[in-house]
Amino acid sequence: MQFDETTIRNVVQQVLAEVGRIPAAAANGQANAPSNGSVMASGAYGRHGVFNCVDQAVAAASEAFDQLSRRSIEDRKRIIDHIRRISIDQAVELGTMEMEETKIGRLEHKIEKLRTLGEKTPGVEFMKSDVFSGDHGLAVIERAPFGVIGAITPVTHSLPTITGNAVNMIAGGNTLVVNPHPSGRRVAAEGVRRFNEAIAADVGIDNLICVIAEPTLETANALFAHRGIALICVTGGPAVARAALNSGKRAVVAGPGNPPVVVDETADFDRAARAIIQGASYDNNLLCISEKEVFCVEAAFDALMSAMERHGAVRLTAPEIERLTATAITTVGEGEHQHEVAGKDFIGQDAEVLARAAGREVPVGTELLFGETHESNPFVRVEQMMPFVPFVRCRDIDEAITKAKYYEHGFRHTALIHTNNVHNMTKMGRALDTTLFVKNGPCMASLGLGGEGYISVSIATPTGEGVTTPLTFTRERRCSLIDDLHILGRD
Ligand code: NAD
Repeated sequence: MQFDETTIRNVVQQVLAEVGRIPAAAANGQANAPSNGSVMASGAYGRHGVFNCVDQAVAAASEAFDQLSRRSIEDRKRIIDHIRRISIDQAVELGTMEMEETKIGRLEHKIEKLRTLGEKTPGVEFMKSDVFSGDHGLAVIERAPFGVIGAITPVTHSLPTITGNAVNMIAGGNTLVVNPHPSGRRVAAEGVRRFNEAIAADVGIDNLICVIAEPTLETANALFAHRGIALICVTGGPAVARAALNSGKRAVVAGPGNPPVVVDETADFDRAARAIIQGASYDNNLLCISEKEVFCVEAAFDALMSAMERHGAVRLTAPEIERLTATAITTVGEGEHQHEVAGKDFIGQDAEVLARAAGREVPVGTELLFGETHESNPFVRVEQMMPFVPFVRCRDIDEAITKAKYYEHGFRHTALIHTNNVHNMTKMGRALDTTLFVKNGPCMASLGLGGEGYISVSIATPTGEGVTTPLTFTRERRCSLIDDLHILGRD
């Protein structure tokens, strides 16, 4: 999707003006303070889903759940259609707002993610019942909601995650309370307010999606522990994934990844290079599924590096990579908890910013930097979330697969291969055992963007639900009638 500079500048101006119109209570997270207009009123709790207090948000979402439980599936669809419509029609405005607030990623992809999640997230059409009919009668298995779901969302896609979670969860008959990442809280609150306002006006239920306006670790933990929360869905990095798994509640955990790419000598190098550039540069490498490091066999290495340059990626030299690594990867924690992480100032920044840190000027609009490194370079093991990809030379396919498995860290998240050798595909698929395994395409093709299937940006890896759907957020209920209604049976 292309936007010219004037359009983007106009939209930014418009949105800045729009942000100025967000009532102060929402912008400051004072959900219960009297406001100048439509966001919230003073009262027992906030309106249109924006709250300060976890207890009040859960109470409101519980009340909304009771109301939703009395409505038809058709009403669920109507509700979801509002979420879809706002995500699609207001994608430019909301995507720009997200970009302005989080300051990471690329505007055109923020906009595209909102549109795509609005269009392609599975809704009520994905719901199904199963029937067993036989000599002993009839058993119907239906999918029931859990109730109020606590959702934790990342800064990398603040509102798109809420769009996807809300469509999935409401399709399953649930309501939700979201604790967004603090750095994406304003766009989260504004999106949620718009969704609820439209839904309440049409369907007459408010607070189906609630959001904590001033989220903190304490509010996240309060949500984990809350008796009114039936299920947790976490989308984020290692710390929050661990916290959810230790919470004592049932949790759907969409955790971190470090997707390796393997390339062998049978690959179509131009196709592989185009795919790696497209996937690794998308939203400046913020996606958990994005290509993070490449293991290429010796026999293909130079051809692949040339193809990368031919398709517009800029190759850094060894000293430039050394300078970039020293600046962009930092160490945090003490003693045994010490570990390397991507530097905050570089996560989701443009390739030009990274290039400057490497001591290099690159053409405006450069999408991706890359270069040859040893496997010991931290960019190989750290989930960098920035548009520089290290390429490691491997003796053969077995070494490439072994290293890919090692540096995927056992997350079992996403892995990719470029090859025309079916045996190598199979070998890697078996060895890495990841939730997503992409062959001969960019990472996003595995979420229906250029490949088959549907999308969600909550890909539950350690807990095993995979790309989440409405069914992820339902309980099975079985209704058995003994001996009757098997109408094919004998009298
Ligand atoms: P993050 O882990 O810093 O934050 C994610 C959310 O968890 C935020 O709302 C944050 O406030 C909260 N949080 C963090 N630590 C917590 C703790 N100890 N207790 C309770 N809440 C806590 O991650 P981020 O930078 O926002 O997002 C990027 C990370 O998310 C990457 O690791 C990426 O791989 C992962 N991610 C995974 C998926 C997936 O589908 N599997 C999707 C998107 C992002």
